[in-house]
Amino acid sequence: MTIATNLATVQARIDAACASAGRDAGAVRLIPVTKTHPPAAVREVVAAGYPTVGENRVQEAAAKASELADVEGLRWALIGHLQSNKVRQALEFVAEFQALDSLRLARELNRRLEAAGRRLPVLVQVNSSREETKFGLRPEDVVGFARELRTFDALDVRGLMTIAAPSPDQSVVAACFERMLAVQRALRDADGGGWHELSMGMSSDLELAIEHGATCVRVGTAIFGSRPPISR
Ligand SMILES: *Cc1c(COP(=O)(O)O)cnc(C)c1O
Repeated sequence: MTIATNLATVQARIDAACASAGRDAGAVRLIPVTKTHPPAAVREVVAAGYPTVGENRVQEAAAKASELADVEGLRWALIGHLQSNKVRQALEFVAEFQALDSLRLARELNRRLEAAGRRLPVLVQVNSSREETKFGLRPEDVVGFARELRTFDALDVRGLMTIAAPSPDQSVVAACFERMLAVQRALRDADGGGWHELSMGMSSDLELAIEHGATCVRVGTAIFGSRPPISR
């Protein structure tokens, strides 16, 4: 199977899920997740019409970004935990950040963005599965966190991101997505709107995520095959 064939298969899954949820197919953005895969894989997905790719490690993404500086339209979405001391490096190439999970990080991002005279689209990561090993805010802490974010003008806060529980039990996964919807509702009540983006759904659970209102799915394995078995 080639990457292009797999991409078409994943897009067909997205289209079918949108149709059965009564949603517009254009309402869900597919971000191919290229972590552990070589720069050539990134070139392929961009050529196939998917210019935004996801990476979860700054170092790895930075190396690919410099190697792929010639690729027109390519945008890097950072979807993994970012340490404050890597913000400067990340801002050299990142077009959107989906894993905001602390005030300290928000402050550092905002400071450097303001100095550079730019804004960055960001999503707040929520630990919807409540697993201790996962990054992200606890669902009950998000509204308070959002209030603190209002002073950071360089952060263009667009919504929420989560990694659902990796469970074979659909009801466990669905419960994670339902928690996200509840958080989004609470945020909208507090803010009078906004918080449109819901980045949730990966190779194994994208249909369920779309059924629950995902606006962005992040897919690695179903496009590029399995990764080396190191936890990332
Ligand atoms: C790796 C990763 C994905 C893609 O996961 P697959 O199961 O390979 O589709 C999605 N989101 C994040 C945050 C990731 O780190």
